Amino acid sequence: MNTIKTVLGYPRIGPDRELKKAVEKYWSGDSDAAELEATAHRLRADTWRDLAGRGLDVLPGNTFSYYDQMLDHVQLFGIIPERFRALGRSGLDTYFAMARGHAEVAPLELTKWFDTNYHYLVPELTENTVFRLNPAKPLEDLAAAREAGVETRPVLIGPLTFLLLSKSTTPGFEPLSLLDRLLDAYAELLGRLDAAGADWVQLDEPALVQDRTPAELDALRRAYDRLAKLTERPRLLVATYFGDPGAALPVLASTAVEGLAVDLVSTPGLVDQLAVLPAIQRKTVFAGVVDGRNVWRTALGEALSTCVKLLGSVGRLAVSTSCSLLHLPYDVDAEDELDPQVRARLAFARQKVDEVVLLGRALSEDEPGVLVNLDNPSRGPLNESGLAREQAVRDRVAAIGPEDRQRAPYDERRKAQESIGLQDLATTTIGSFPQTADLRRTRTELRSGRIDQATYDERMRAEIARVISLQEELGLDVLVHGEPERNDMVQYFAEQLDGFATTRHGWVQSYGSRCVRPPILYGDVSRPEPMTVRWASYAQSLTERPVKGMLTGPVTILAWSFVRDDQPVAVTADQVALALRDEVVDLASAGIRIVQVDEPALRELLPLRSAEQKAYLDWSVGAFRLATGGASAEIQIHTHLCYSEFGAVIAGIDGLDADVTTIEAARSRMEILGDLTAAGFRRGVGPGIYDIHSPRVPSQEELTDLIDRAVAAVPADRLWINPDCGLKTRGYDEVIPALRHLVQAARTARS
Ligand code: GLN
Ligand code: ZN
Repeated sequence: MNTIKTVLGYPRIGPDRELKKAVEKYWSGDSDAAELEATAHRLRADTWRDLAGRGLDVLPGNTFSYYDQMLDHVQLFGIIPERFRALGRSGLDTYFAMARGHAEVAPLELTKWFDTNYHYLVPELTENTVFRLNPAKPLEDLAAAREAGVETRPVLIGPLTFLLLSKSTTPGFEPLSLLDRLLDAYAELLGRLDAAGADWVQLDEPALVQDRTPAELDALRRAYDRLAKLTERPRLLVATYFGDPGAALPVLASTAVEGLAVDLVSTPGLVDQLAVLPAIQRKTVFAGVVDGRNVWRTALGEALSTCVKLLGSVGRLAVSTSCSLLHLPYDVDAEDELDPQVRARLAFARQKVDEVVLLGRALSEDEPGVLVNLDNPSRGPLNESGLAREQAVRDRVAAIGPEDRQRAPYDERRKAQESIGLQDLATTTIGSFPQTADLRRTRTELRSGRIDQATYDERMRAEIARVISLQEELGLDVLVHGEPERNDMVQYFAEQLDGFATTRHGWVQSYGSRCVRPPILYGDVSRPEPMTVRWASYAQSLTERPVKGMLTGPVTILAWSFVRDDQPVAVTADQVALALRDEVVDLASAGIRIVQVDEPALRELLPLRSAEQKAYLDWSVGAFRLATGGASAEIQIHTHLCYSEFGAVIAGIDGLDADVTTIEAARSRMEILGDLTAAGFRRGVGPGIYDIHSPRVPSQEELTDLIDRAVAAVPADRLWINPDCGLKTRGYDEVIPALRHLVQAARTARS
């Protein structure tokens, strides 16, 4: 029997970010719904044609989205919160209102999709939620694909994951108690898809790779028993990915679903677990042997033997990706400026599809020969190539001792830092000031060669001077240079460090129309020369007040890059940390007394299973401490955390041993402070009081109120007053009045 060749999902933003551009054009009023829909239609059709042409035999369907797949399900199940319905707008505009808010109506909450840098919108449920199926999108998608000549397998979020990722707006109400009502909607939907001729439907259940309670596993069994018993339905594929489904796997296998997808890249050991599952010889196993989250070519020989092992035990085999390819850029071939040695080892979404097809052919046509031409030495493993090895870096990592991760005791540092001369409730910002159109234009001009480096530097210095005098005028205590020279807080460093490559077109959707271009960390990391010192010391030369040096921490640099997979990530983190350590020391020698090392992604990389979290916190906290451990007692180290709920990593935050931690807190109204004090945290802390994700300018009274709450939890001599995050996405018309209120509120609180 032929092996099925498929992938679990595919990017949708467009190889040239066509969707981003079309959506933004629509938002700005420069196009209408018809034009946007036409672009969307073309993009989907191009994708189907491309994937089918490459030789996949079943394509994932319904993977397109104008903004986010979870948001699509809010529409699919007719659970649009009343505040958006009341706007009385069209279906499309209601959808975008949920994503982005509308005037005074707050959008749905945006949060990270498992341990990725993709963000989804959080559906809101109440005890009164009624699901009303609105199947137009998946049905239309199925029909449109068929019209384009391809058969698709509609992809949906599974009921468990949907409920577990939603939030209840009725206090104390568990979304999971809506399961039976929700299953009615799934049952109806499966009936409609069956009637429309869908052969398979894919139900994504990544929530199963997190720790699940017995009650949740029970709900899982109930859900799939019920769906599998439907008489009119397509075959069901339940997809788990990003990790080990653990106890959920036998539960799923005991139901009558026809297919199971497993992530064999994150969890190779699943092969043996699958082999002993009683019902497995009646199921189609979708073997995720091609990594859907990282950019390295697959070791095809190994993947092939994994598949061969499975062939003996499973009913039928499908070769697939470990997860949706949503998390990868489109095409390596577009990267003509990459070092050919690096490029030869990379596979983006298109190349991953080719790998799946090759593996499928090798298996079904019994011609492993098709793999041979890919196993050539120029594409051999990274760690065996000269490309990735830098002996001096390895020697330095080998010589790291515990003392390198240990600064002087906090009390001693606190004394030594008194000479900086800070008052109680010191005010500061998180680093960036607005990235104006002018600044972006200057960067484009440098890239295109219209201006030279000297002109560029001159303009950046002028900007720094402007930002410094603005901060002095506002009366802030600790100043920043404003980060005008940074295109992105990770890419800026990746471009200057050895061991990293950056791409030109390697865009990946982060949320909605926002895309990022993660750098590629392919080799041993080192710092050829200082990266930020000239900007920081220029800024410091303009003022008597202390200027904070500004660095991105090792964990965040790894989290927002594609990282080599040929050595433990802890080693890679230490290499990055050593490079940053040198930068911290250089900043201090240049007269900078305060250095901030940002770690907004500390929470993001936290493993999904609690059993693995300690090991993660050990190496991540260790890397941060290595990066900052070269700072003498009188240098004040700050860190900054945001984008997440930090409750789960409080011990880690304490472990960072930073002198001052600024942390997002405005929206949760200082909740984090309670958690920190309860955990015995006793160093400096700056809970954000100004929510910079909103264009609103907070009033001085609101800020005073938040400061009062903070002062109740933390003594004033350890409390800092600052915004939630950097100001780069805001405009000066908002930032100036907001910071004025912030400084004034701090003054009021002090008196
Ligand atoms: N220093 C960075 C800035 O202000 C921090 C950004 C972040 O936390 N994401 O822009
Ligand atoms: Zn931040």
